[in-house]
Parts: sequence; C-alpha cells; structure tokens
Amino acid sequence: MALHSRTLYLNILKKMEDKTCLECNEIIKGRSDKKFCSDYCRNAYNNKVNIGSKNLIRNTNNRLRKNYKILTELNVSGKTKVTRIKLLNNNFDFNLFTSIYTTKTKNTYFYVYDQGYLPLENDYFLLVKND
Ligand SMILES: [Zn+2]
Repeated sequence: MALHSRTLYLNILKKMEDKTCLECNEIIKGRSDKKFCSDYCRNAYNNKVNIGSKNLIRNTNNRLRKNYKILTELNVSGKTKVTRIKLLNNNFDFNLFTSIYTTKTKNTYFYVYDQGYLPLENDYFLLVKND
C-alpha cells in the first residue's frame, strides 16, 4: 500500500471509531466511552431527559387525580352502580389506576387509591370505597 493511501485508510478507520456527542453530534475526541463532547452538553442532555420524565410523572399524577375525583363524585353512597357511558362522559380514563385486587371468586376490582370499581355485566360498574 502506498504511503498516502495507508494514511487515508487509517484516517477512515479512525473516523469509523469516532463517536458523536449525544447532545450536539460533534465528534468526540479522546476516550471512546465518552458520550458527550463537553460538560455543557452532558448537563444539557441530562436536563432534557429529567424534564421529560418529570412531565410524564406530573401528567400521570394529574390524570390519576382526575380519575379519583370522578369516582369520588359518582360514588356518593360508597357503593354505587354506574354505566360505562357515565364514566366516559366524565372523561374517566380506564387505563389509569393505582392497584388491582382480585377476590377469591375471581372478581377483579380496579382501584384509584381508595376508590375502586368492579366491572359488571352489560357495561355497568360497581363503584366501591375502601374504608
Ligand atoms: Zn456536544
């Protein structure tokens, strides 16, 4: 291999090994296990990730709180039968609950904190409250 093409070859190999910064995509110089080109980029990247997960938790908590409010308002007596439509009309979100309880008779109650609901036949739900 001629000298200049060997240098070129080595440069290409080196380029392939180069890693780019997760934040700014600049080529990272130095250790190959580095993920960021600078402290600035590492901080900027980590802040964004943290804000993202904080938003997720806050939004989920808000939706759970909304679900809890709906169950509390509909379940005046502590044991109330309601339709699915009624829950949906109140924007109840069936995907969000805090725990599940299955009885020995295989009835599954879904809980949002201490407010629970048991799916019944014909799109009815029994709302219950834990003491
Ligand atoms: Zn960077």
